[in-house]
Amino acid sequence: MKNKLLPLLLLLGIVGVSAQDKIIGFSEKASEEQTQLEAEYEKQLSTKNLDEWMKLMVAEPHWVGTEYGEKNVKWMEKQFKSWGYKTRIDTYQVLFPYPKVRVLELTGPTKYTASLEAIPVEGDPYTAQGDKLLPSYNAFSTDGDVEADLVFVNYGIPSDYEELAKLGIDVKGKIVIAKYQGSWRGIKPKLAAEMGAIGCIIYSDPKDDGYYQGDVYPKGPFKNKTGVQRGSVMDMPLYPGDVLTPGYAATKDAKRLDRKDAPTITKIPVLPISYEDAQPLLAALEGPVAPSNWRGGLPITYHIGPGPAKVHLKLEFDWQLKPAHNLIATLEGDEFPDEWVIRGNHHDAWVHGASDPVSGMVALMEEARVVGKLAKAGNKPKRTLVYCAWDAEEPGLIGSTEWVEDHIPELKEKAVAYINTDGNSRGYLGAGGSHSLQAMVSQVANVVTDPQKGVSVAERRKAANVMRGGDNSFKLSALGSGSDYTPFIQHTGIASLNLGYGGEGSGGEYHTIYDTYSHYTRFKDPGFAYGVALANTAGRISLRLANAEVLPFELTQWHSTIETYLGEVIKTLETMRADVEKHNKLVKADTYGLVMDPKKPIAPAKMEGEVPYLDFSPIQNVVAELKKSIETFSKADALALSPAKKAQLNQELMGMEQILLQDKGLPRRDWFKHQIYAPGFYTGYGVKTLPGVREAIEQKEWKEAQEQIGVLATTLKAFNAQVQKLNSIVQ
Ligand SMILES: [Zn+2]
Repeated sequence: MKNKLLPLLLLLGIVGVSAQDKIIGFSEKASEEQTQLEAEYEKQLSTKNLDEWMKLMVAEPHWVGTEYGEKNVKWMEKQFKSWGYKTRIDTYQVLFPYPKVRVLELTGPTKYTASLEAIPVEGDPYTAQGDKLLPSYNAFSTDGDVEADLVFVNYGIPSDYEELAKLGIDVKGKIVIAKYQGSWRGIKPKLAAEMGAIGCIIYSDPKDDGYYQGDVYPKGPFKNKTGVQRGSVMDMPLYPGDVLTPGYAATKDAKRLDRKDAPTITKIPVLPISYEDAQPLLAALEGPVAPSNWRGGLPITYHIGPGPAKVHLKLEFDWQLKPAHNLIATLEGDEFPDEWVIRGNHHDAWVHGASDPVSGMVALMEEARVVGKLAKAGNKPKRTLVYCAWDAEEPGLIGSTEWVEDHIPELKEKAVAYINTDGNSRGYLGAGGSHSLQAMVSQVANVVTDPQKGVSVAERRKAANVMRGGDNSFKLSALGSGSDYTPFIQHTGIASLNLGYGGEGSGGEYHTIYDTYSHYTRFKDPGFAYGVALANTAGRISLRLANAEVLPFELTQWHSTIETYLGEVIKTLETMRADVEKHNKLVKADTYGLVMDPKKPIAPAKMEGEVPYLDFSPIQNVVAELKKSIETFSKADALALSPAKKAQLNQELMGMEQILLQDKGLPRRDWFKHQIYAPGFYTGYGVKTLPGVREAIEQKEWKEAQEQIGVLATTLKAFNAQVQKLNSIVQ
């Protein structure tokens, strides 16, 4: 029906021609064949499989090292084999702490012992599995036994400590209590320790994550008073993966760091708790009332302390090596077996993990099943497809990182791209990644139909952008960290994507005992229509990368993205300069002093150092050069080249992202080598683009900022040389 209507709709201008455009990287004829193949692919995707497989995989908790986790891996392996894949299980021995002792008590002025226990709820049998459930804790907290006055530090991020300094409050020797959110959780104990605190408690405040947001589980999807978010607190912005084997694989006989020397284990003990357990602690605080934007949704007045609330925190872990099992399933390419399109999702969960990660895992499996079926029917992919199910993602991207570190030379030679998925729910397409893939992903988003609205998922995404004040265009977000793409893009320079639907399945189940099949099928994606939409989106992308005549890397949009980032960084510096000038004027005029309430004294405002001018011209010049080279490349007709030249061009295109790495890495964290995207040193998952320059400016390290401008210019010059190499092939 769609086809019959199309000419009429085109005539009426109702649909643009973009959906009919030739597919990037495909000639006209190949484009038609690919369109047909994708239509066949889409037709065979089944919601029923997703439902059945999820139910099976989440029947019991399955964190790394559990029997049920291993059972899942073996079961998945059997499925992939039956679909025609060659499979293997790559196992690494990774440090994984399980809690032996967890004590948190208020010892004065009143007494309270935290229960640290989430309650089973009616209608969800999975929450009643008792001892099988993983206790709530933060993985890679150090052992510790501390007692001290408590201080409330809001989200525990840098700006909160600036606020505390103004109030004259010091956390040295204290235990801090921070709300979840505002940053990745691992930043909170890292910063608290840097500030001299000796312990850290993290809780979910009901305003951000509880009854203020909506009805709580089981009535609604939000966090009830006993829910606790687990999660890793290892210093992932330094390096992810096994804490004892930085930069190399955690094989059985690998040389390991002594645990006391492992820099990514926290310096102070840290424990996550529920808002039920947090309330008595917060209620016992006195001292200044917290600033209004710090206050949460509990029925108390939020004070900062320090004290008189005094708490005792005692934690001990077993610190065992556990086997992390990655399943690797390969479908060999017909024409270019040594060019790999890699697709991955993790399979380990904190508890049952229906949403995180199994909703994404089953979508990946359904994709692989249909791709395998099409291959058997004679539509073998031209390039090799490698489907990966990662273990130990939750404690710190461990399975994928160890696997990547184990295969770097081979990956640098063979990988075309890595496509990641993770949790999925109802809503809008979220897509992040290498901007050389933006044009291709945008084309795919134009042909995938939104299950609820019947328009393309690109259309819906753009509408959401407009409503949020953005523009009406499809863009990839930049990747920071938080899932298994990190070792691929940031350490190895493999062009990567991260895909998932979301925005309409909000809830408080993340990393709690409530992320179950019951919760998922009621609130996240009832009927699994968005699971199929994800398989449809990721599968088309995988198939296009696998079958393209010329690999679909498009550099014009990549270039405009780099220009945007550069503009942002320059603006940041200018804004800082203006802010400091204004601040210093106010200090000189004693304006701050005059408005200060003498009954609520704050530390006198200090003059700040002036913000210097930096010379961005080395980057600006190369960005201008790049524009010209890329214009030449985009005008050439690469599809008209001979097969030999096309093969040569593809080889060069495959390695492009690697040129954006610098081997010596970012300042103070050489594991992170990408010069365009990195997780923030003080934001964790949050991305910093042009990270070397941007973070030096944000930290007011002016000398380093100017040096990093030089490093970035060198990187971009090498990229420009590579574009010129492409031009020499296509001319
Ligand atoms: Zn996940």
